[in-house]
Amino acid sequence: GDFLDQLSFKGGKITRTQEHVHAINGISLDVKKGEALCVVGESGCGKSTVARTVMNLLRPSEGEIHYAGKRIDNLSHRALLPYRKQMQMIFQNPYASLNPRMTINQALHEPVKFHNPKWSHGQVLDKVHEVMEAVGVDPSWGVRFPHEFSGGQRQRISIARALAVEPEFIVADEPISALDVSIQAQVLNLLMDAQAERDLTYLFITHDLSVVEHFGTRVAVMYLGTLCELADTKELFSNPRHPYTKALLSAIPKLSDDREPPIKLTGEVPTPVNLPSGCVFHGRCPYANERCTQEIPQLKPDGTTMVACHGIDEGRL
Ligand code: SF4
Ligand code: MG
Repeated sequence: GDFLDQLSFKGGKITRTQEHVHAINGISLDVKKGEALCVVGESGCGKSTVARTVMNLLRPSEGEIHYAGKRIDNLSHRALLPYRKQMQMIFQNPYASLNPRMTINQALHEPVKFHNPKWSHGQVLDKVHEVMEAVGVDPSWGVRFPHEFSGGQRQRISIARALAVEPEFIVADEPISALDVSIQAQVLNLLMDAQAERDLTYLFITHDLSVVEHFGTRVAVMYLGTLCELADTKELFSNPRHPYTKALLSAIPKLSDDREPPIKLTGEVPTPVNLPSGCVFHGRCPYANERCTQEIPQLKPDGTTMVACHGIDEGRL
């Protein structure tokens, strides 16, 4: 297809870490219009930092963010306003986007009015009803407060709140991880339907590769603040390149049967504060050599996949 970049993050670094903000070191990725790019990795790898940085909730120490061809990471609050409409975020905890003291009607009316100041009350009301119906929450429940809903319903409502301002691009950070397993698939399907019906582009953050297999167009695999591999979803599952990706895939029980013997991860996960030299994975990689401990591997094309690994580069993997 003839894709345009909806968003690109170039050379992104965050060095000022604090609680819940993990370092990222030289992340470059493009999200193409209409795709769902999934960012996968273990807790603490920096994937949420990527999400919050592209949303302008964190300012990168280095690097640039471009949205639809325009640089946005250096904009003033005022110049950012149109992007605050076009780019919406869905959090793991729906309470993060729902004020407990506002009814659902209030929570949904507020952003619609804010971003469409010329709309009549009737137009705002119609939009709020439309998105509530789209997420499967009866609009007559709008008079209730968030605590009166189940976790799954609350997440549906926060999705409705994101959709209500008619965004183009949605960053979803672990949107189903906090939900009951029995309703995770429903909420995932809801997000997929919304994407198809509203021409949305997604950056989808998850620690769960089995979710990605059915959802993502492409997958970016992160480890300790760096990007290991970026591939089309089918390609990643049928022909993973990076030793870390292979280890992650072999940990999915239903997939591991007829594959190469699983790679056993050795060693401890280093802390992102004191990053290892060279390849950040070298302490846990069974294929590490001298070069791996000294030189940072760069992302390079291998077929349609991009992978950062000296072993692959040297033809010994
Ligand atoms: Fe393993 Fe070396 Fe490749 Fe890193 S660069 S994944 S240590 S082989
Ligand atoms: Mg996270």
